[in-house]
Amino acid sequence: MKKIMGVIGYPIKHSLSPQMHSAVYDKLKLSMAYHAFEVRPDQLEIAIQGVRGLGLQGVNVTIPHKVEVMNYLDEIDGLAKEIGAVNTIVNVNGRLKGYNTDGEGYLRSLLAAMKEELSSKSVLMIGAGGASKAVSLTLAKHGVKQIVIANRTLAKAQELQSSCSRFAASSAMTIEEAEQRLDEFDIIINTTSIGMLPEIDAIPISLQRLKKGAFVSDLIYTPVQTKFLREAEEMGAPTLNGVDMFVYQGALAFEHWTNIEAPIDTMRNVVLKHLKGEK
Ligand code: NAP
Repeated sequence: MKKIMGVIGYPIKHSLSPQMHSAVYDKLKLSMAYHAFEVRPDQLEIAIQGVRGLGLQGVNVTIPHKVEVMNYLDEIDGLAKEIGAVNTIVNVNGRLKGYNTDGEGYLRSLLAAMKEELSSKSVLMIGAGGASKAVSLTLAKHGVKQIVIANRTLAKAQELQSSCSRFAASSAMTIEEAEQRLDEFDIIINTTSIGMLPEIDAIPISLQRLKKGAFVSDLIYTPVQTKFLREAEEMGAPTLNGVDMFVYQGALAFEHWTNIEAPIDTMRNVVLKHLKGEK
């Protein structure tokens, strides 16, 4: 009997997870199937009961359920607890354990792209929402020289900075201050939705004071290259888009479910193909 996996979110029809995971099952000839389930927020608890009742082996969780779903699980991994959100559930004999692979997925993509250790790097995070929380805490725990959170709502940046400060030197500031002090940072990461389709002409921060050699990254992958990354590239900066974060978070989820190493290239190719509109 095929093992059934899936992703729950609302809305869910734009998710690329079904194509990405199905390609892995085909490639590795696994008897597994992956479905997208559209679950309204008022149906979340019953949907999670359904995961137990129907014996789904593993589930990804996406917007808007990543925080609320924690209330319905049997166990939550330490990092996911710190981040305060779950994006992967593993079902072991009816016991559901929640993980968060978003931050680790981003970290793997960053290390692969930079090919350098991060311990001497000053990092500027723009944004303090869910994605920033996952990435900031993961980077702080991994070890960076310092992490600075800049956000439109300063109180949210301060709250996240306080969580990061247990693991790395950190501070919070306004976007305007970060813009003025941009030349202090080695890695700049946009975690806001500014620049995402359809608002493709917006950028989250001016790059005028970008330090020579600084690395610029955007978690957005629709479009694959945001205006922010295009400007950085035109200034000669190395850049990283959000495609590989998405790919690696999925790879880590797959590895939690199967203990089999995920074929990253297959996953990336499928995602890029769909993003380019070739199916
Ligand atoms: P979220 O929790 O809603 O956070 C949104 C963040 O963007 C907040 O910091 C918010 O600031 C800021 N923001 C939004 N509109 C703004 C504006 N007009 N001006 C200034 N700041 C603004 O969203 P999220 O889940 O963290 O997702 C953020 C982005 O990351 C999205 O584009 C998403 O696609 C991307 N993402 C990518 C991956 C991946 O796998 N590559 C994974 C997760 C997320 P305030 O706090 O002031 O509201």
